[in-house]
Parts: sequence; structure tokens; C-alpha cells
Amino acid sequence: MSMPLPRLAAALAAALTCLPALAGAPFDFDAAPGRLPKSVVPLDYSLAVVPDIEAGTIAGTESVRLRVRAPSRTIVFNSLNERLTDVRLDGVPVSAVDSDDARQLTTVTLAQAAPAGEHTLRFSYTGKLETQPHGLFVQAYVSSDGSHGRLLSTKMESTDARRMFPCWDEPAFRSTFELTVTVPAAWATVSNMPVARRELHGGEQTTTFERSPRMPSYLIELTAGDLAAIGSRTGGTEVGIWAVRGRERDGQVALADALLILADYNEYFGYAFPLPKLDEIAIPGGFAGAMENWGAITYNDQLLLLGADSTFADRQTVFAIQAHEIAHQWNGDLVTMGWWDDLWLNESFAAWRGAAETERRNPSWKWWERQDAAREFAMRSDSRLSTHPIQQPVADELQAANAFDEITYEKGQSVLRMLESYLGPEVFREGIRRYVRARALSNATAADLWSALAAASGQDVGQLAHDWTEQPGLPLVSVAASCARGTRTITLAQRRFLLQAADHDGGHWSIPLRIRAGSEAPRAQLLSRDGEQSAGGRCSEPLSVNADAIGFYRVKYDAATLAANTRAFGTLPDGDRIALLDDSWALALAGEQSLGGYLALASAMGKDRDSRAWEQIAASLSTLEHYERGSRGHAAFAAFARSMVRPLAESLGWDPQPGETPDVARLRHTLYADLGAWDDGRVLAEARRRFARFVADRSAIRPDDQETILAIVMRSADAATFEQLHAIARAETDETAQRRDFAALMQVGDPALGEQAAQIALSDEIPPQAAAIRLRLVWLLAVRHPALGWRTFRDHADALLAPNPKYAPLITAQRTPEYFWEGAPPEEIEAWVRARLPAEMAPDIERGMETLRALRAERAALTPAADAWVTQAAWHRSGWRW
Ligand SMILES: [Zn+2]
Repeated sequence: MSMPLPRLAAALAAALTCLPALAGAPFDFDAAPGRLPKSVVPLDYSLAVVPDIEAGTIAGTESVRLRVRAPSRTIVFNSLNERLTDVRLDGVPVSAVDSDDARQLTTVTLAQAAPAGEHTLRFSYTGKLETQPHGLFVQAYVSSDGSHGRLLSTKMESTDARRMFPCWDEPAFRSTFELTVTVPAAWATVSNMPVARRELHGGEQTTTFERSPRMPSYLIELTAGDLAAIGSRTGGTEVGIWAVRGRERDGQVALADALLILADYNEYFGYAFPLPKLDEIAIPGGFAGAMENWGAITYNDQLLLLGADSTFADRQTVFAIQAHEIAHQWNGDLVTMGWWDDLWLNESFAAWRGAAETERRNPSWKWWERQDAAREFAMRSDSRLSTHPIQQPVADELQAANAFDEITYEKGQSVLRMLESYLGPEVFREGIRRYVRARALSNATAADLWSALAAASGQDVGQLAHDWTEQPGLPLVSVAASCARGTRTITLAQRRFLLQAADHDGGHWSIPLRIRAGSEAPRAQLLSRDGEQSAGGRCSEPLSVNADAIGFYRVKYDAATLAANTRAFGTLPDGDRIALLDDSWALALAGEQSLGGYLALASAMGKDRDSRAWEQIAASLSTLEHYERGSRGHAAFAAFARSMVRPLAESLGWDPQPGETPDVARLRHTLYADLGAWDDGRVLAEARRRFARFVADRSAIRPDDQETILAIVMRSADAATFEQLHAIARAETDETAQRRDFAALMQVGDPALGEQAAQIALSDEIPPQAAAIRLRLVWLLAVRHPALGWRTFRDHADALLAPNPKYAPLITAQRTPEYFWEGAPPEEIEAWVRARLPAEMAPDIERGMETLRALRAERAALTPAADAWVTQAAWHRSGWRW
């Protein structure tokens, strides 16, 4: 049976809404979902692996101490691409071994049922050394001196430990691990635990690490190669930063950050980091992000090391990503979700705690304010009919990777921040401490967290939280004001906010409002019932019911209150102003308010220098300018957009002023990048002048400014200019700078040069450790050249997605329709995506396709609205009156 798409979307959303509560109960091992029987559980592994890089194989021996909980004739665990031999239970050969790679399971059958109690399962096996970052993989790299190297590293989450060794590869099966590896004698080896002993034989070493505490298999780590480290100590913990030998000094900033963050978290969580050491390992290549392996966090080296060509934004990333990964050492590693449906307990928590720590230690970065962009990203996804709740059912661990999306990370982060703000930071911290103490070295569900927070706060936190974690979407709070003798009373109501659909049924939230009237301090009010009334200050004063933009909800004000807010716009606290901009843009996209209302607010910014507010405005203007391309109104709109930001850009100037804060530096880049994109003649000329100096002398443009200036120049570059930057990129020995050059080449405006850029993205000019950026380069190319971008992606999808094995299905389902929406007819994109993915990914595909259709609808609706505003604004400027 088939259904037309809009009805399918509604059916999917309804199906998600109607599911029973997922995690109403505390963690219980026997009740945890999963495919593996709970009758036989591993207690301890002794694992020895001998990787053979040339042959691409692993030879292993494994001994697992088991507890048989009820007499059993079979033992079932996970395996993939492994062949087991000499399998014995308590020294007795078993009667049959069946390894099924399709199901990723091995079933061992015994001659007689094993009685309840402890047993030891031993076997040898051969396995596969991977060449992509999952399981135990080989990473080839080119160093800055041009030499070629290879190292071994691991990436197990969610379900790839089974690619390295047969194991109970579900998060509830915690056990201890003792790992032994044989690699070249000259190599360094790093794992979760310190080295216990190392024996040299011939040109090889056999290294055994200390036995780990009880932990899930997805956190196992092993890296081996020509590595070196710098290190220090905080509390009782040795902290090391590892990198390919010669680059370890570039980890000094990361080391200082790690010491600070670890000490802060020891205090925050009230539970000292329990391992003897914490290593952080910079992998050249591997996967694009970082992985929180317990005691041995791996990072793509671009995210951990800072060299001469790094920017201030890179430096911020180094802090922020460590704050996230180190938070996982508690939320995720010490306390692990019981099953993948509670992945948010890991990711939402690390995202929230990491941002809070980054803000705390770097107040001038205005980090929470910057997270507003992440909150908006999640709100936009969550305003689609096909969205899903933070807690979502994961039937089979093989689909766990599809839960790693902006709802789990960014919405989860925002909801936790909203809860923290509502309960109060001290009460919230006390709840977290109780949760960590109660569940340490074990697993947890959401219910465990809610009961700890309830105990700390004396409030029914579960009831409040369920609305946000177990139902999809977000509310729109409408504010209707009435005035009596200058005093405002507001009446509040809510309904689900959707960007495109007309049907707003379904959903009711307990909403922790933060209300600020005029200049008074914000006060909390829990909105649970429509028609509730509240004091709203003086009628002439501004009013925010999402003070400081902390809440995960939209607000629609009545006309009089909106007018008061617009009048006072320039004097509002930054967060209130940002919330107003975010909401009025979203309401314009949804057709709930006019685009003119939003543009009137944006025009009221004046010369205020808040970078997030301007980033929001510049992004919205860029969206409109993009939609206008090819239309008759484009030139007039681009001129309007330039006029909005030019005065502030000129007051900031091209070069940093002494004492300037990071926020202002960021603002400068935003404004100049957009002026360049909107063909501002003076900006283009100055950028070209600076580029000419840069060609002669690479130090002529500071690393911080290169991304902006190179992109501006490329948009109008001729073949000779394009080739100048291409030559610089090819000759570049610093990978950070080289990545920047390649990204700029993708933004070339000329169509023929765009074809050349596509070839570069696919070529061997990209070093092996940077293979994961090819996909990002093609996405970037598609902004200027949609059809070319789509063709390039479609024809090389296997190669472009290969460096992202874990996320490839999710990228295909959701990002492909979103990023290539202009590149081909929707039917072509949808047919292509569906043909590549299994049927159970239909909800993910629908999310991607709903976004694609929404973007097309927005373009159709907003282009004439933008034209009308510009025409009217031009009349106003000319002073002409009716
Ligand atoms: Zn994470």
C-alpha cells in the first residue's frame, strides 16, 4: 500500500506521538532492550590481538569469564567478519559454532547445558582490519614534511567493537577488559588504561594494558603508531595529549584546557574521575569528530592541535569539544544509558555540560549566546511534522547510529538548560550528583535522572520533563495583552508550532516561562493551562516571555506588545533581542506573521554590536538573497541587504582594533563575508587587493581572516585567480591552511571553474587523512552550483560517504534532500535516496524530504514578500509619500 507523502508524514508523526512512555522505569538489566539473551553475561575479557597491516587481518585469542544465570545450551554474542576456532567452554570443545555476519551474531552450541555459575569461554579468531574508521582501522597519513605514515586506531560507537573482537556489544553488558596488542617495537600504544607490561621480541612488542573497570564495549580504545605525548597531572590523574611524533607540542593549549576542565568536572559531578589517567589522542584523519572512549578520547587532529595556521575559532573549538568529550567521562562512560533509546542521556548531557563549562571559563566568548544558532537549528527541525521525540525507540542496535541527530544533541542541550534554569543551577547540580553517585559504574534510564532531580528539588521533574523528551515538536506560546491604567496583564495560551503544516493539533507542554517586563529581573512561571494570566509590567515597556532566550519554545506577541518591543529593540538585553529575532523570523517562515515584521525588527538594530543578533540577521538576509537569485527583484534586494549591514561593517573596519573582544571579531567576519556574497563593490575590491598581497606573501592575511577573504575573492574569480589559489592549496604543507584553501575554491562563482572545483574535491590533492572533508566540499560547492553539486555527489556517493561509515545512512536520508534541494527535481532526489536505504529508514527519509519541500515552499512564499518590503523601503527612503 502506498500513501501520498503529506499523509504519510502525518501518519508517521501520529505513530510517534502515540507510543507509550519509553523509559518510565529505572534501569533494570533484564528489562533493557537488545537482541542478546541475558541468560549468559560476560564478567571479564582477556583479549590479545595481533594486527597485520599488510594483510589487513587481525589474529586474536580471547578468554571471557562468564556468568551463566540459568542453565543454557547456547551462548550468543556479537561478531562481524570473524571466524572462531578452537572454541572451548571450561576447556571442553563446544559442539557447534555458527557466525552469521548478516545478523552480526555468533551462536555457540554446547554438548550439554552449562549449569548456572561462572564459566570460561576461550577461542582463537581471525578478523578484518578496517580501512574506514569503524572497529580497529588503519589510517594512512601524509605529514607536513611530506613523509607517509600509517597508524592503527579504533572507533567502536555504536556497534563496531564487534568488528575488532567477538563480544557482547550492547551497552548494558558492562564488564572488565584486559587488552594485549602486538605491534612494531618502535610504536607507542595507548588504550583506556595505562600500560601494565611491555615485552620486546624481534622488531615487535607485545603490550598489555591494566584491566579496566566495568564498562560497555563501545568505549574500548586502542591506538598504536609513531606517536609522542606531552603530559601533566591534576588531582590524582595523569593527563596526556598524544599526536603523531613531532606534532605533540601543538597540543599544549589542549593540555592546559584538559587540566582545567577535568578539575572543574571532578567538583561539579562530586565524583572524582575514576581512572588513573586520561589520554587525548589526535588522529590524523580517522573520523571527522571526537569519541569519548573512557580514559582515551580520540579526536580528529584538526580539533585538538593548534599550529601556526590555526584561527581563534579553531582555538575555541579545542576548548568546547574537550568540554563535551570530558563531560562524557561521567555522562556516558561512568554512567551509561541502558539502551540506545536513551542516547540523549549521553549526548544531550555532554552538549549541555560542555557548553556550560565553555561559557564559565571563557565569558568573553559569549558561548551560550553562540549556542543559540544550535538551538535554532534544532527548533527548525523540530517544527516539521516528521520530527521525533528526544527519546526515540531504537528497535535494533544496528539503527542506533540514526539517533545521532540535532534533536538528540541540540534540542537535548536546550531542554536541559531550560530545566536547569527552572530548577536553579545549585539544585540541578545536586540532582546530577545524586544521579552519578546512584548509577556510577552502571547504566541508567531517563527515569533514574528524573528521580534524582526530583529528590534534589522536591518537584515532580519527571512530569515536566516528559513533555519535552517523550513527545515530538515544540510549542508556540501566544501572548495577548490587555491594558488598564497603564498596567499590562497578559493572557497565555499554547499550541504546537509547525513551519509548514496547517494542522497544529497534538501536543501539550508544561512550559517553564521566564518572563521579563521592562527592566525588572526575570521571573519563572510554569505555563500548564491555556488562558493563564500573568502580570506584564507597564504597557509602554518591552516584554519578554522567553527572557535570555533560554526556553525551547516560540513566542507570538499581540500587535501592541510587539510594537512596544520593536520600539525598545535597541535597548533590550542581548538574549531578549535574539529571542525576538529568532521567533519573528520563524513566524514569518511559517506564515504566522509578515516578513515585514521581521525586517522591521532587524532594521531597528542600528549599530548595536551583538554578534549573535547580527549573525541571525545576516543569515536571514542571506537566505532571502539566495531565494531571490534569478528573480527580477534580486538586484534590489541585494542592495537592500548591503545597506542593512554596511554602516556597522564600516564602523568595525577590516582589521582588528586593540582590545577587541572575540565577539566583535566574529561579527566583522560575518558582515564582510555577507557583503562580499552580496557583491558589494568596495568589499570585493579590497578583498582582491589583500589577496594579491597574499599570493606574494602568505603572511599578508592573518589566518583568522583567510576564510572570509578567500571566499569573497573566489566568488568573482577568473581562471587565473582561481589557479593562483589552487596552486597555493596544492603546495600548502599545513593541513589546517590547506583545508581552508580547498573550501574557498568550492565557493567559486564561475560555472566552468565550478566544474574544476568539483574535480579537485574528488582528486588525490586531498591528503588521505582529510578524506572526510570531500563530502563537505561538495556540499559547499552545491550552494553556488546546485545541479553540479548534486551530480558530483550522486555519481561519487560511495567514495564521498565512505569516510563516515557510521553516519552515512543518516546523511543520505536527511542531509542529501536538505543540501541538494535545488540540484534536481524532488522526485529524482527522493527516488535516489530510497533506492540506497533500507525500508526501515523511511521516517528518516521523510524528514529529509519534508525539509526539501519546505525550502521550496519558503522560496515561493518569501521571494515576493521580500520584493514588496524592498519596494516599500525604497519609497520610504526616497521620502516620497502618497
Ligand atoms: Zn558526544
